[in-house]
Amino acid sequence: MLIQQAIPTAAALHQFCFYNWSMSKREFQTEVSQLLQLIVHSLYSHPEIFLRELISNSSDALDKLRHLTLTEDVYKALPFNPRVDLELNEKDSTLTIADTGIGMNEEDLVSHLGTIARSGTKNFLAQLSGDAKRDSNLIGQFGVGFYSAFMVADRIEVVSRKAGEDQAWRWVSDGKSGFDIEPAERPVAGTTILLHFNEEGKQYANSWRLQQIVKKYSNHIAFPIFLTYDKSEWNEAEKKSEKICTTEQVNVASALWRRPKSELTEEDYKELYKSISGDSQDPLFWFHTKAEGTLDYTTLFYVPSKAPLDLYQAEYKVGVKLYVKRVFIMDDARELLPQYLRFVRGIIDSEDLPLNVSREILQQNRVLTSIRTASVKKILSELKSIAANQQEKYLEFIAQYNRPLKEGLYGDFANRELLLDLIRFKSTKVEGLTSLADVKSRMKEGQKSIYYITGGGESLLRTSPLLEIYRKKDLEVLILDDEIDEIVFSGIDKYGEIDFKAINKASASDDLNDGAEAKPDNAEALKPLLDKLKATLGDHVKDVRPSVRLADSPSCIVSEEEEPSLQMQQMLRAMGQKDIPAPKPTLEINPDHEIVRKLLACSDDAITQDAAWMLFDQALLMEGVPLREPAAFVQRLNRVLSLSI
Ligand code: ADP
Ligand code: MG
Repeated sequence: MLIQQAIPTAAALHQFCFYNWSMSKREFQTEVSQLLQLIVHSLYSHPEIFLRELISNSSDALDKLRHLTLTEDVYKALPFNPRVDLELNEKDSTLTIADTGIGMNEEDLVSHLGTIARSGTKNFLAQLSGDAKRDSNLIGQFGVGFYSAFMVADRIEVVSRKAGEDQAWRWVSDGKSGFDIEPAERPVAGTTILLHFNEEGKQYANSWRLQQIVKKYSNHIAFPIFLTYDKSEWNEAEKKSEKICTTEQVNVASALWRRPKSELTEEDYKELYKSISGDSQDPLFWFHTKAEGTLDYTTLFYVPSKAPLDLYQAEYKVGVKLYVKRVFIMDDARELLPQYLRFVRGIIDSEDLPLNVSREILQQNRVLTSIRTASVKKILSELKSIAANQQEKYLEFIAQYNRPLKEGLYGDFANRELLLDLIRFKSTKVEGLTSLADVKSRMKEGQKSIYYITGGGESLLRTSPLLEIYRKKDLEVLILDDEIDEIVFSGIDKYGEIDFKAINKASASDDLNDGAEAKPDNAEALKPLLDKLKATLGDHVKDVRPSVRLADSPSCIVSEEEEPSLQMQQMLRAMGQKDIPAPKPTLEINPDHEIVRKLLACSDDAITQDAAWMLFDQALLMEGVPLREPAAFVQRLNRVLSLSI
């Protein structure tokens, strides 16, 4: 009997699988139909990837079974003859993809080829852009892989038998109304997928085309892929061509990364990249290393030319696969590389790890720790040499990955110096981006530190009054306008021997106090005015004091060393941190400014009070902090305006 059922939600699934077998027809869950609709209608530009997806599923299934046969006693006795078989029937326009992998039982079929509860699929739906080319690339990244077959087939039958079990199951669906599942027969464990090509798919009922696609996407899958089809051959005796059923291996099926570099072409590397990453673009560059000695391992790392779309998501997909002696172990181990290098794709293949290495073991495994440390050093030093020798390429890299490198400053203390050399900065002195080494080489005689400003967007920072004195003294200031800059760079005190200083901190002006300018000449005369301003502003400020860093502006705000900037405080509050103390900044005023000089001579307390607030408010505005009391601000402005007219 066929049991008709819809693809259920994860919660419904549990109930369904275990209690409710007699349930009759159910419609597809709306989300499932939606997804299938999208796949079928918006991804037409690249339908050929269906084959890559199905073969990669077979390869995963073979990897899983191989791993079990090597590590688990119950599986050791099972026959394992790993292969993927494509069988084309041109006449009926069908294709089967069969593997001898781990297989699926009834429960697996229902949950793996049925639910949409998987986070990958949800992410996929959220990321669709409507651009067919880009979206088809997403399929691989987010693992809605199996469903992509509905681009080319109007009916799919899956017959699968799980390794170690006797019963096989058939899953059938038209991708529209749900799926049926029933007991079936299969002589050995594994999975067979039968596609009935639709109009769009007919073009793939062609052996030459299939071979091209397998070579393009799946050449380096570690298992042999065979194609069985009716080959036209010339019959000399009868003087005519005839069709002979032939089986040929299509892919090279070798762990390419284990071959010597000298045997590999650029194309080999690019192909492997595409097959392991699901990216359809060439990588930006790659680093292939074979280590021998205390530890034997091979690493092949790629940097994608575009940052992966999930780079800034907590649930990012790990891009490095772990192999032990060419056997695939896992592709979701976050321990393989530090988090800031999560954009790196590739392979680590170790000779020294045990095959049954578990996630728990990985975390404190000495072998893996050494491989990881060496891999990070390798990646960073290769990047450094690219920065030195291929500057344009390096800028392409920086355009995508400057920010993750900055994250590295935060966590990877051992490589701080290297990272500081790799990161690029906006600056008041150059167009585009600059390196710290270049900033250092531009330092003026007597310049004590490298300066930077944080706490807002680029245009806000570039017009900050805090920059005035540096401009006047012709000193370079780095513009750190990335959200994470303040957090990251507040922990960096030095670049080599040179101090690294934020100019919005109160103490940064110590550097500027070279003798004569240390104190304004009229320091004594200023005191009564400063006291008045302070009395007016009361609790809103920590202090009011004369500034040595202003040239054209009358006032500015600075924060204490250990305090986050005003912008940062706003951000933390917006992120829900309630216990941030109200900002209490220091107001600095410019003793040489006309307004301040006039105030010195002014005896009208009302005017001085208005001026106090206006100097304070404008300094806050320039810091990107919104006005506290716009109504009071406007009233004051109008009073001053009417006096001046
Ligand atoms: P992904 O491969 O990213 O997990 P897919 O949609 O391609 O997503 O496949 C869904 C799941 O179905 C797989 O994770 C796997 O558990 C199962 N599956 C698909 N094809 C096979 C197969 N040939 N053998 C065994 N399991 C398979
Ligand atoms: Mg898949």
